[in-house]
Amino acid sequence: MIDKLHVLAAIVACGLAAPALADPVKVVAAENVYGDLASQIGGANVAVTSILSNPDEDPHLFEASPATARALADARIVIVNGVDYDPWMEKLIGAHKAAGRREILVGALTGRRAGGNPHLWYDPAAMKAAARALAADLAAVDPAHKAAYEQGEMKFLDSLKPLDQKIAAMRKSYAGQPVAASEPVFGYQAALIGLKVRDEKYALAIMNNAEPTPSETAAFEDDLKGKKVKAMLYNAQASEPAVNKLVELAKANGIPVVGVSETEPRGSSYQDWMMRQLNALDQALAGGA
Ligand SMILES: [Zn+2]
Repeated sequence: MIDKLHVLAAIVACGLAAPALADPVKVVAAENVYGDLASQIGGANVAVTSILSNPDEDPHLFEASPATARALADARIVIVNGVDYDPWMEKLIGAHKAAGRREILVGALTGRRAGGNPHLWYDPAAMKAAARALAADLAAVDPAHKAAYEQGEMKFLDSLKPLDQKIAAMRKSYAGQPVAASEPVFGYQAALIGLKVRDEKYALAIMNNAEPTPSETAAFEDDLKGKKVKAMLYNAQASEPAVNKLVELAKANGIPVVGVSETEPRGSSYQDWMMRQLNALDQALAGGA
């Protein structure tokens, strides 16, 4: 009899423990940088799907497929960049409403609007805002792991300190220095460092897959030939023959070039990726590239 009671007690205990063994929270991120954020904060308690994750494709040319819609089907939390970077995602979540699903729009969190620079993850403040919103949403849909999500949030916010310090140090060294960029990918960090980014109209045209005007191209070439910029940033992820020519022109004129990308590289973390690029730019501006 006692043995039977023990077995019963064990079964009841298992039943009470069941929520801890529940399926992980399904999170869908439009971009893998936010997928990484979700993995870092949620750990084993989340199952993350990132839609844009191919660092060899131009994200501005991405179109959603039926697989994208399927990935969304039972998502509890969706993270979207917004600011016209992933309009296909905003359209999908609008078309497939799901009761109780939480949607995080990073652009809205940071007051950025369409027409502005959409590469929000280059702004550490945007990543911090996304981390806070995500941890709060995870705790709301999975209260059993609230403490773990809060811990994950703290750990993530802490891990951004070296990036903030690096940006501050570069600001001291390089504020006011002129650079050129083939696309505004690095724009938010360039602004935080205080760099003067020239040829912005050219960069916007390339980002929008439009043809820069002859005068915009000529101005860019003049900046390189006249050594009016200390470095040239280019989008390592988009292959534009016109941009490749500018990269060659920069090299021919002894101007260091630094590749930056939009999609988080495979096997990298957000923090390592950003730090690697900042180190490369630091070296270039220091004249040691
Ligand atoms: Zn872009």
